[in-house]
Amino acid sequence: MNSLYKTFTSNNDPLRTRQFILINGFFFIGIIAFIVFGFINFFVTQNYLVSLLDAIALMVFLLSFSDLKKTQHINKAATIGIALISIFMFTFAIINHNQSFGLIWSIFFPIFAMVMMGHKKGLIASLIYYIILYSILFYGLFYWENSSWDMLSLVRLVITSFVLMFAIFIMEYSVYKMEINLQNISITDQLTGLYNRREIDETMQKKYECFQRYEMCLSICIIDIDNFKQVNDTYGHATGDNVLVQLSEILKENTRKTDTVGRWGGEEFIVIMPHTDINNAFEHIKQIKQKINSFQFEEIGHLTCSFGMSEAEHREENVEQLFLKADKKLYEAKNSGKDKIVF
Ligand code: GH3
Ligand code: MG
Ligand code: MG
Repeated sequence: MNSLYKTFTSNNDPLRTRQFILINGFFFIGIIAFIVFGFINFFVTQNYLVSLLDAIALMVFLLSFSDLKKTQHINKAATIGIALISIFMFTFAIINHNQSFGLIWSIFFPIFAMVMMGHKKGLIASLIYYIILYSILFYGLFYWENSSWDMLSLVRLVITSFVLMFAIFIMEYSVYKMEINLQNISITDQLTGLYNRREIDETMQKKYECFQRYEMCLSICIIDIDNFKQVNDTYGHATGDNVLVQLSEILKENTRKTDTVGRWGGEEFIVIMPHTDINNAFEHIKQIKQKINSFQFEEIGHLTCSFGMSEAEHREENVEQLFLKADKKLYEAKNSGKDKIVF
């Protein structure tokens, strides 16, 4: 489990990691519970029918658990688990007739459904589950004898289970929102709202792998503001920050949907252009350069940048070499008078 856990945590997706831990935990609890119930129902209460149900549920749980370990298909495991609990609960309700308040188990369903399938799908699954279950329980009002089951019990169960279901839904929804928020914070640069270095490295790695595997073109451009130190020295750090924000807006507005723009470092930015050879990338960067050159920045007015570009080639072995090549070109642009694109 630990090695699997590592595979999931390393992909930087907290929601998936959470789902993975919950599903594993769910199967673990389920297996233990069905062993215990099966044992009690067989040896203590001698309710053989229910103990047979326990045994069947246990088998399905064990099989899905081992399948999850092998294939890592989280959604499949979640669907099987949820379907199994529903069928188990319906059968149990029909057999048990709420003797000794057995229906108390029915209210656990939304917890499992929403943590395993996500709050939206889990809510839908819970509603379907309750519609079927309540139909069975309604039928029981007329036919279950010798059990404490009447209209008031049904109404109480319906209300409490709905209150609990919506409480769980709200909790799960808030966790989901919080995780999305944290995920965004972890990949964006606080000042400019562009992707940060970490996210850029990750995107770059993925695009580079596509280039290697599918021969997809890949070009990058490193952008460095010219004489930015002077801006800070003359107008102050706050104005410098504001310039970075405005420049980021220009970059965001003028890059294509498939491109990725990030803040590479202090006053350096990067544009990743997949499916683009160096000539097309140059045309595109030329347009961005024109936009920057014609923009009036608050307080400071005119500003220029230097651009170093490179295209992935099979001679290279890794992403770092692609970066290095663009960085060298940027250096050349700076040394040959700045305000230039070199590739
Ligand atoms: P060049 O044309 O050769 O690029 O000169 P430059 O002055 O732009 O380059 P240099 O690397 O010497 O200076 C970069 C400056 O960027 C230094 C640093 O104070 C400033 N800087 C880096 N990050 C930030 C930031 O977040 N806010 C502000 N205001 N300034 C920053
Ligand atoms: Mg610099
Ligand atoms: Mg600079």
